[in-house]
Amino acid sequence: SRAFNFSPGPAMLPEPVLRQAQAEMLDWHGVGASIVELSHRGPEFIGVAAEAEADLRKLVGIPDDYAVLFLQGGATAQQALVALNFAEPGQAADYVISGHWGKTAIKQVKPYVDARIAATSEADGFRNIPDPSTWRLSDDAAYVHITANETIHGVEFRDTPKVGTVPLFADFSSSIASEPLDVSKYGLIYAGAQKNLGPVGIAVVIVRRELLERAGQPRADIFDYRSHLKGESMLNTPPTWNWYLAGLTFKWMLAEGGVQEFARRNAQKSKMLYAAIDGSGGFYRNEVDPAVRSRMNVPFFLYDEALDKAFLKESAAAGLMALKGHRALGGMRASIYNAMPVEGVQALVDFMRDFRERHG
Ligand code: PLP
Repeated sequence: SRAFNFSPGPAMLPEPVLRQAQAEMLDWHGVGASIVELSHRGPEFIGVAAEAEADLRKLVGIPDDYAVLFLQGGATAQQALVALNFAEPGQAADYVISGHWGKTAIKQVKPYVDARIAATSEADGFRNIPDPSTWRLSDDAAYVHITANETIHGVEFRDTPKVGTVPLFADFSSSIASEPLDVSKYGLIYAGAQKNLGPVGIAVVIVRRELLERAGQPRADIFDYRSHLKGESMLNTPPTWNWYLAGLTFKWMLAEGGVQEFARRNAQKSKMLYAAIDGSGGFYRNEVDPAVRSRMNVPFFLYDEALDKAFLKESAAAGLMALKGHRALGGMRASIYNAMPVEGVQALVDFMRDFRERHG
């Protein structure tokens, strides 16, 4: 009875994760209470938290000289906190904008740093990523920020850009753990969990430890990554339920074969969907440069937007949920994160062909 859910986030979770959470809901491991009813300072939850970190380290391949934090406030809070933690007041910070989320990232830091647009593809409607050879990078910048995958515009960096000695910071909210990642090329990676890592309500920060020695700016303890590290991400009451669900999701991804296997599945799924769009004789179209098309979020348009309503109604009736595009772009968007099985994309592609045959 479960639909294939193409929501951009909160997104579909793996069914085995939901089933395990359901089975453990009333009585976690025989303790007589749910994990969500136990103190975060008790041995049970401390164990859950430590296992989640160990599993995430294994899954993503996080070296020992990187700290891992599990924090509240979503990815948006991290967009602001990177400036407070790593830049001096008014120091330069370079932003490469390849879509909506790059724009929100720079907006968050404007009160704290001299936020510079090193490059932007906005004039092109964010259908591309600015060529790294044209980026205007500043030697005195605290960091260079990119959005690894733009969830709304469907644009993804396929290679890690080289930015010299200034550390590269990246928002990986919608593509972390979707394929192997060389963490050592980044100073800092952050991601809201609600796409590939599990439930909404928790964000992950992966940071090179030596960067935490930077003074940054005056800030409260709760906005200080060093304090969070010292407090093992439990400075205050953490979102234990979300952390637990993320931990189950990490275990599921490892059991399925880890990031190598998801890279294979994600390449297969995105190829199927782009082929269906490109091979539709113009009935459907995706406008992103094929070299940087996202493997996670596929925006597409029908040749006649008067058909949008029928497409959404009929797809929902066929068990294909949440295909409506973001209001900034209109049209459709299929988000096909790790938890979306190949069969889900096959069902979508079949539906799209059938819809085209009836309405083309
Ligand atoms: N960055 C990216 C790439 C996103 O896709 C999103 C949300 O969809 C955000 C940041 C904002 O995340 P949050 O809602 O967790 O603050």
